[in-house]
Amino acid sequence: MTLPENADAAALRAGWLREELRRHEHLYYALARPEVSDAEYDALSRELLAIEEAFPAVVTADSPTRRVGGAPVDGLPNVRHEVPLLSLENAYDEAGLDAWLTRVSDRLDGRLPEIVCELKIDGLSISLVYEDGLLVRGATRGDGTTGEDVTPNVRTIRVLPLRLPAGAPRLLEVRGEVYLGKSAFRALNAAREEAGEPLFANPRNAAAGSLRLLDSRETARRKLSVFLYSVARWEGDGAPATQVEALDALLGLGLPVSPHRAVARGAEEVRSFLHEWREKRHTLDLETDGAVLKVSPSLDQRRLGATAKAPRWALAFKFPAEEATTRVTAIVVQVGRTGVLTPVAEFEPVLLAGTTVRRATLHNYEDLSRKDVRVGDTVAVEKAGDVIPKVTRVLLERRPAETVPFEMPSACPVCGEAVVREEGEVAVRCVSASCPAQVKEAIGHYVARRAMDVEGLGDERIDQLLSAALISDVAGLYGLRREDLAALERWGEKSAANVLSELEKSKEAGLARLLFGLGIRHVGEKTGKVLARRFGTMDALRAATEDDLTGVSEIGPETARSILEWLGRPANALLLSKLEASGVRMNEPEGAPAPGGPLAGKTFVLTGTLPRRTREEATAAIERAGGKVSGSVSKKTAAVVAGEDPGSKRVKAEALGVPVWSEDDLDVALGGLS
Ligand code: NAD
Repeated sequence: MTLPENADAAALRAGWLREELRRHEHLYYALARPEVSDAEYDALSRELLAIEEAFPAVVTADSPTRRVGGAPVDGLPNVRHEVPLLSLENAYDEAGLDAWLTRVSDRLDGRLPEIVCELKIDGLSISLVYEDGLLVRGATRGDGTTGEDVTPNVRTIRVLPLRLPAGAPRLLEVRGEVYLGKSAFRALNAAREEAGEPLFANPRNAAAGSLRLLDSRETARRKLSVFLYSVARWEGDGAPATQVEALDALLGLGLPVSPHRAVARGAEEVRSFLHEWREKRHTLDLETDGAVLKVSPSLDQRRLGATAKAPRWALAFKFPAEEATTRVTAIVVQVGRTGVLTPVAEFEPVLLAGTTVRRATLHNYEDLSRKDVRVGDTVAVEKAGDVIPKVTRVLLERRPAETVPFEMPSACPVCGEAVVREEGEVAVRCVSASCPAQVKEAIGHYVARRAMDVEGLGDERIDQLLSAALISDVAGLYGLRREDLAALERWGEKSAANVLSELEKSKEAGLARLLFGLGIRHVGEKTGKVLARRFGTMDALRAATEDDLTGVSEIGPETARSILEWLGRPANALLLSKLEASGVRMNEPEGAPAPGGPLAGKTFVLTGTLPRRTREEATAAIERAGGKVSGSVSKKTAAVVAGEDPGSKRVKAEALGVPVWSEDDLDVALGGLS
């Protein structure tokens, strides 16, 4: 990282970084939908910190470097923390660790007290209050001073006792981390995929989303867990005098405390804990992103004190991002369902966060040429959470002499037709409708579970059907004959019969699934449902004009054009008529159940002007998530979503005790379905 040359440049860059960090914080904390990896976020944050240190004049009081977390969302009641919940100071390497150890001993007259080393669990912080031994409150950190009340949800966490044994202090406030185990995370995502719901990017987001749900019955299903790591208030006898005693006391009260911890005497023992866990942590069923080092004696903690953002007596040592370096052996180009050419780097197998990775997508040509990845290069590969690995940068100093920049092919690597790159688009695509790669992908997409749901037709079998020339497009599937299938290698009578009955069943899938399954650009599962709801039949959709389409709140001009263009192509008109002739339903089945969603069965009332959505858009978003919108508030109303200048509905909601939400709260409840 290079620092700006002068104060003006510093102010400019700092301003940009602050905006960018705030945007990412909103996505991460409020919406649980981060756009960048933690490592990328941390790099931006460190750059801002370095600029602020070098140019103190650019510091602002509300800079993300001085604030804790994100603002609480008001869908859930707010809670003020008696003792603020702070963040932690970070160190990323030995130098950062040494600097902290030196600062601690300098402030304690050259003495280094006992240090408790704990693993830093990647979840979200929680504050729990037990009064007379009873769990009375659970709250998130929020901005450190005000958090969200999630008591009903916290009560669903199995490992947490609702009542402490006799001898518990009169009042106990404990802090800890709520997390979702890796296996529970995988199971949750698998179930969501099955249900066609958006997936969580990593266990942390899944935990944050689950703890802040408005329906605690759903939270209960999510299998959250918690480890407690500190005592914030202890009123009564036997208050612990050190962090070591605090953890023991919590264990004694039957509270969950992570077993993976050690007490270090001296810097060497701290280092050996870090060394021990750097790799070993991958064997645990929970995600960790570092270790937290804490000065143990409370007296010393008080002497060291805290800044506005973090205590001085603790340090989060972040393990390096899940990054590995390897050598690129080839760059291959894949052709997707919509004809998009995607460059993929193949490299020497390398161990990354516990699994062996061999390839990573380079996204598109623009991204690839910006990074200038070449065959023969040594590259850094990163894996954030459970997302697919990606190439983050090229180690230029290790580039061999004879490499050449990668050129995107001018012809489709599968069918040989010329490829095009449309104005204003990053994607290079093959537009030949008969490109085998596209036909194969298109069929695979059509039969997918979330589309027409035809079981038993995997990639390999689709390949067989294509090479035996039994089909050339999706309509061909409905003309397949039992004897032709049974004659194929590794098929047999039984699987032939099964596939045919699956195909028969798929004819009833309905318009929404069909529209998604046809693979029209920009028409995903959600848009398929919106279109089916708005137009009802394929004929009505075919008669729609661009204005009709863009008149539907969630359809933008690009999607509208793509739909019209698709429907306008004679080959597609023919395809649709073939499908119709085979008996494929071109409307929604009567009385089809409303698609399940996070707001299923709930009724909302809108009032005032929302900051981002029109009334119609908000209604559509709620309906898409399974909810209903009504014009009047009653006790049964789940929440009143209020914008600027709300009317009497808000007053009525308050009188009836119905929650009043902001648009941000609605976003959280929609869980990414906006
Ligand atoms: P932090 O996660 O770096 O550290 C503080 C937190 O660590 C505490 O609040 C606590 O919840 C947790 N913790 C876990 N185990 C602990 C233990 N044993 N003892 C004490 N605390 C423990 O800080 P933060 O303020 O919560 O979040 C900042 C981090 O969030 C950044 O480092 C960044 O990686 C990530 N972030 C990412 C994005 C993004 O867009 N990807 C955006 C914002 C923040």
